[in-house]
Amino acid sequence: MTTSLTGDLLAIYDALHAAFGHQHWWPAETPFETMIGAILTQNVSWKNAARAIENLEAAGMLDPDLIAATDTGDIARLIVPSRFYNQKAERIREFAGIYIAEFQADPAVMAARETGALRDRLLAIKGFGKETVDTILLYACGKPVFVVDTYTRRIFSRYGLLPETVSYDQAQRLFSDHLPQDVGLFNDYHAQIVRLGKTTCRKSPFCDRCPIRRVHGSLRCAAAARMPDRDP
Ligand code: SF4
Repeated sequence: MTTSLTGDLLAIYDALHAAFGHQHWWPAETPFETMIGAILTQNVSWKNAARAIENLEAAGMLDPDLIAATDTGDIARLIVPSRFYNQKAERIREFAGIYIAEFQADPAVMAARETGALRDRLLAIKGFGKETVDTILLYACGKPVFVVDTYTRRIFSRYGLLPETVSYDQAQRLFSDHLPQDVGLFNDYHAQIVRLGKTTCRKSPFCDRCPIRRVHGSLRCAAAARMPDRDP
């Protein structure tokens, strides 16, 4: 598995880590809170999802039994900041029911399930896409599954390591096939990508302050020279 691509991906990670420090993800107290956060952050910023989680916590609702036993309307009222709150209330209620019925509301029971089978089961839940499911697998279950998001595609296609139009699976394989299957590395690598995408490699990027613009002689961003200069 050790290829020059492996070396390049690890060098990019090292440069990000050196610039930003360890990101200590996922920002949650419990695996169940991580799972609920992964649902609430669908199509909204983490800031919005975090406000919804704070409301659930303040109401003492970060508990699978309580969520499964509560009307979706009452859940929806608490998660308004996460937008699409009626839909998301149904999703987290359904998920809480499955978590209890099939996994005894125990993250260890969930994590003991074979990764492929668990991924297929979670993908079968209404409204659960690959990013949501892989976030749960990595950050709540400790499975070595690389999470792909918009930032991943944007940064690594600009870099020249992915085509401009790339599927979720194709982007995921870049990392899964060329990095050691290390949960800690996958955890922090995705977090570093989000940090870079939010602060630097934005739609209109700040290449002049990018820590991976040039990692070493031959490892540099293919797009940087084409990007207009911007004031920070
Ligand atoms: S050099 Fe610019 S385009 Fe390339 S990854 Fe950094 S911010 Fe993005």
